[in-house]
Amino acid sequence: MDWQKELMLCQEIAKVGKRLWQDGLVAHNDGNISAKIDNDWILITPSGVNKGALKPYQIIKIHLQNGRIEGNSKPSLETPIHLAIYEIRSDVKAIVHAHPPYATAFAAAGIALMEPVFPEMIVRFGEIPLVSYATPGTERLAEMVAEVIQDHDAALLQNHGAITVGRNLEEACGLMEALEWTAKVLWLAKALGNAIPLSPSEIARLFSMRPKPAQ
Ligand SMILES: [Zn+2]
Repeated sequence: MDWQKELMLCQEIAKVGKRLWQDGLVAHNDGNISAKIDNDWILITPSGVNKGALKPYQIIKIHLQNGRIEGNSKPSLETPIHLAIYEIRSDVKAIVHAHPPYATAFAAAGIALMEPVFPEMIVRFGEIPLVSYATPGTERLAEMVAEVIQDHDAALLQNHGAITVGRNLEEACGLMEALEWTAKVLWLAKALGNAIPLSPSEIARLFSMRPKPAQ
């Protein structure tokens, strides 16, 4: 294993934790972040740690095949979600789970972010579906999230929060910020009384501009 890559990823995860916390996308000890080192190992944030104060040495290592855990504390409660996604999407190298306020409000109201209002949203996400509620930390929730993430890079988790994936930590974190921006501005537009959807031909054009999924 490449220890330099591992160290760099631990530092990057800590930076992403601070960014999410500073942006108000996670509160207290909420949220979790992971990244793939290679085909055998992932790094994941520990349970019960404030993401704004997360240190690189606190990050836990998990073996994808045999489940071996290396680290000084317990891995995140939502580890099953991360493992289920890495198993199903070989192109995913990083995952961010957070509780962004506006996106989580949509999730609490049971509303997926499917309205085709913003061009960037369509090009980036296509759509942001809603995963039905299951108890946090359970295999059931992990299965349901993986099923949706199989065809999407972002989803809302009903009564809970949101999840984004990427080819690296920067992408997964950036998508979480973009997801929250979408929810916030859609909320504001609705408060003004209208969020005008793009025309079907424009939606089709934007969908054709989406990067093709890696297989
Ligand atoms: Zn959560």
